[in-house]
Amino acid sequence: MVEKVAIPTRRSTGHVGLIFSDGFTLARFPQGEGMPRLGFVFTTLVRGNTSPKYSDDARLNRQIAIIEAGLESYRIVRMVPIPRAEDLKRLITIARVGERVGEDDSVDCDGLMTDQLGVVIELRPADCHQILLDAGCAFALLHGGKTELRRNVVEIGVLALCETFGVMPEQIALIDGPGIGPCCYKEQDKFSIDLRAMIEEQARGIGISNILFATNCTCCSRDPRDEKTRIFPSHWRQPGIRFSAFAGPLL
Ligand SMILES: [Zn+2]
Repeated sequence: MVEKVAIPTRRSTGHVGLIFSDGFTLARFPQGEGMPRLGFVFTTLVRGNTSPKYSDDARLNRQIAIIEAGLESYRIVRMVPIPRAEDLKRLITIARVGERVGEDDSVDCDGLMTDQLGVVIELRPADCHQILLDAGCAFALLHGGKTELRRNVVEIGVLALCETFGVMPEQIALIDGPGIGPCCYKEQDKFSIDLRAMIEEQARGIGISNILFATNCTCCSRDPRDEKTRIFPSHWRQPGIRFSAFAGPLL
């Protein structure tokens, strides 16, 4: 009888705390050895709502955040997740940044990718994960909500990036921004939903081994200087507020 032998796999999953700027207005991944090559910056509750859908102050809040993050000279293209309720059978859509169309530089999609210099991709989440794929010559940002992850958005996004820019999954690093954790996200008040575990499973399944997660849960992370103060907007905690995640080859 042949015994099954467990083959040890090399795992390089990392969890890092984000770095906060003065006054906690912005959070970012640390950069440097073993850290993302791309800049990945997030606004916090201090900066307020950045979605005009939910607040009249949002445009100003976002503009201040862009200046604080040093992004004024970049073209910021926003991905707009498509509401699910309209068509439950709709496929996941990964788009490529093209020419700017109209006043609002945005694309309706579940993932947006580019190899253009000077382009930053923005997503405005509140609990959904923002999944950055860095392929060196190009990058993508994916919308990692429960619905998209159950439809394999990571696998579909990685394949799109590989086919479009001629790279292999092994060359891609995955960096996951702040999103809701299993500590807070429950289905029917009892079953924990672990979006990070879904992201990691899909990434490993397609051949990505370089994976980095932000440790912060959008729903329960608190300012260490004042334990009463939350750091990020969270739809789960308080519906109707969004923050901005900006990803790109920032200087
Ligand atoms: Zn939590």
